[in-house]
Parts: sequence; structure tokens; C-alpha cells
Amino acid sequence: MEPFSYVAASDEASALDAGRVGTFIAGGTNLVDYMRLGVLRPNTIVDITKLPLSQVEEAAGGGLKIGALVKNSDLAYHPLVEQRYPVLSEALLAGASPQIRNMATTGGNILQRTRCPYFRDAAVPQCNKRAPGSGCAALGGFNRSHAVLGISDRCIATNPSDMNVALATLDATVHVKGPKGERDLRFVDFHTLPGEHPEIESVLQPGELITYVTIPPVTGRSHYVKVRDRASFAFALASAAVVLDAADTIKTARVALGGVGTKPWRSKEAEAALVGSKPTPETFRKAADAALAAAKGQPTNMFKIELAKRTLVRALTEVSHG
Ligand code: SF4
Repeated sequence: MEPFSYVAASDEASALDAGRVGTFIAGGTNLVDYMRLGVLRPNTIVDITKLPLSQVEEAAGGGLKIGALVKNSDLAYHPLVEQRYPVLSEALLAGASPQIRNMATTGGNILQRTRCPYFRDAAVPQCNKRAPGSGCAALGGFNRSHAVLGISDRCIATNPSDMNVALATLDATVHVKGPKGERDLRFVDFHTLPGEHPEIESVLQPGELITYVTIPPVTGRSHYVKVRDRASFAFALASAAVVLDAADTIKTARVALGGVGTKPWRSKEAEAALVGSKPTPETFRKAADAALAAAKGQPTNMFKIELAKRTLVRALTEVSHG
């Protein structure tokens, strides 16, 4: 690991001041991992763990306000999350190990970097995300776990977070503060597609700090299904987060996919195929086909397209059965 300076922020103002030239750190589960690998080499890290951002509170109108420093385990087991947002609790518990969940924070999880093996290996020169303009070793390389939605000819890496898939389906809002003031960002617009610039992963500007996340009330039931190589601990090959309000017909539906997109993948196409239809296996398959209609696989990850469809059908089937 390269030498770096360490600043412990005592309050928000000192954090934002130090963040002008530094990299924020909280749980450190992602950043320290990549610093050890030599992939990330910040000159200064700004410890924000003393900031008062560790609360889960009821928001006006029945929603939730989640501080950026709330630990993944605390959020997963919070009674209001378990009762009102099972999809979020299930997604958090499907991610990482208990030890990592005890350290990882909400803000850090939102900004989790990809697990592309070429990105993680600093000895590989071709990675547009790590070294812009260098190429992409995954294209034509080992890409079994890579994305099939939102890819570009510069990068096909997935967003690895389970929590992010749940937040995409819950219509979350991310609140940030930075040198130019505060902003509220729709979660579905927070992460960016790789396009020509895979090194840019979100709309967060330099020096901006995620302070909290809000999620509005949910009508209906929600659920998360994750499919992976090992049930004990692995990143998703495919996952689906669904919120469904249905009786004889489906009144409202929200669908997001994980493990297959270059960003947490909200599928308006699947939602349009569901709303107004009866909650039958045929409807669910139609929605799954719509969600993956634009998918483009590589020779070794083509299987993910059908896998994602079946994962979504399973999530919809299970949520509709309660
Ligand atoms: Fe780098 Fe993206 Fe290619 Fe992986 S898929 S090697 S992260 S450019």
C-alpha cells in the first residue's frame, strides 16, 4: 500500500473542507481492499466515522431517512426496514459476509466499485475504468460474470451491490453535500452508464459527500432474489428486486435487476408489461422478456440473459404468493 495522509473529520464542515483534496473513508471495506491491491492510491483519506450520520429515522409522509454511516447490518435488521421494506433487508443480508456487513456503510455500499478481475489486478494494463484509454481486458477475456445490460465497447463491468438493486426499486433519493452546497439526486439517476467514460461511475462531483438516503412509503409487497455460484458468499450472477401491488390484476409494479447491469438496473419495460395484467406465470415471463430485450452478452456470459429472466420470474412469483 502506498503511503497516505490521514485526516479525522470532527464535523461536517471539516469533512467537506478536507474532502476537497481527499478521499472519504467510513467502513473502509471497499476502499482499503483496493488500496491494498494498489488499484486506488489516494494521497489523503478523510475519516468521516465521527459524523452524526448513523441514524435510521421516520421521514415525513411515512418513509425512511437513512444516514450515510448506518452500517449494513444495522439497516438490514432495523425493525422499520424489516416491516416496511423487506426487499432492502433481504438484499443487504444477501450481500457480503456478516463481518463485512458490520463494517460497511450505506454511503459506501452505494459507491461500491466493480469486482471485474481486471480492474482489481493492477498488473493488468488494459482497463479503461482504472486507466482511461488503456482498453478493456474483459472484452475477449474472462467475462463470465460481466454485464449484459448497459454495456459499451469500453467497459462491461457490473455494479456489484445488492443494496443498490433494492434502492433502485424503492425510488430512493440520495442527499449529498459538497463545496457548492447540497443536492438531492434520484437514486436511479445516481449511477452512470460506462459509455465512453467507464472511469466515471456516478454523478457525484469531486468533494461531494453522501449524507443520507430517503425512501418513500411502499404500497404492496417487496422481495429480493439473488442467484450466485456459492450460497455462502458470492456476488450476484443475477438478482431481482421487486415491489408489487396486486390482487386480481397488478396495480403497480417496480422492478430492478442486479448482477447483469453496468449500473443498478431499473426496468421500466418490465413494469409496463406487468401493470394492468393478471399476476400469472405468463405475465411474469413476458415482463422478464421485456426486461432483457436489450441485453447483449459475450460468448461466456450469454447464459446470464436467461438466468436473469428466470430470477425475475421467481422474484415475481414469490412476492405475488406472499
Ligand atoms: Fe476495466 Fe471495465 Fe474492462 Fe473490467 S470491464 S477490464 S473494469 S474496462
